[in-house]
Amino acid sequence: MRILLVEDDEMIGQSLQKALKTHAVNWVTDTFAAEHTLTLEAYDLILLDLGLPKRSGLEYLIQLRQKGVTIPVLIITARDSVEDRVKGLDCGADDYLLKPFALEELEARIRVLTRRKQDRTNPLITYGDASLNPSTYTLSYRGITERLSIKAFNIMQTLLENPGAIYSRSQLEEKIYAWDEEVESNAVEVHIHTIRRKFGAEIILNVRGVGYTFPKLKAHI
Ligand code: CA
Repeated sequence: MRILLVEDDEMIGQSLQKALKTHAVNWVTDTFAAEHTLTLEAYDLILLDLGLPKRSGLEYLIQLRQKGVTIPVLIITARDSVEDRVKGLDCGADDYLLKPFALEELEARIRVLTRRKQDRTNPLITYGDASLNPSTYTLSYRGITERLSIKAFNIMQTLLENPGAIYSRSQLEEKIYAWDEEVESNAVEVHIHTIRRKFGAEIILNVRGVGYTFPKLKAHI
């Protein structure tokens, strides 16, 4: 999951980036930086503080929705009046979490929002013989169930959500690494090798010179 965190408090920003280690979290400290970042990369979720320098989180959110950007937005703020909360939701936020909050709750809400975005009420990500469980990081495939590393899980999630789509190595790297993380060379290959060793080589197809794909099911006539 790629998350854009917009938070000006150094301590909260740092600790969230560290704590949400199951996701690729990119952290910016104002809404103009957020705006710029969104033109460069795709995100699955925005965690938005309201009290921000230069332009408030709420103003930014209104503009975002006016432009038709539909990325789920979870507001994280210390403002706790009912009025503020209602305003945030009315302006297009998908959810609201008051600081201080428990990390488990934030994680759970992130799962709910990303599930909603993909229009899934079922928490499992399933296609064909494969089924991923985001709350346990397990993959089930043709009778085998194994827990995956976080990065391997993210690779499988990317492939399973778009069966038949071919992802290059750098596209997969972008999905599993945050900005400040050093990309280990061959990491994608190593993760894919591990997944194939556990589940069989046919689980991920290698399209020579192009990338990787989870095979789309053939239509039954
Ligand atoms: Ca703030």
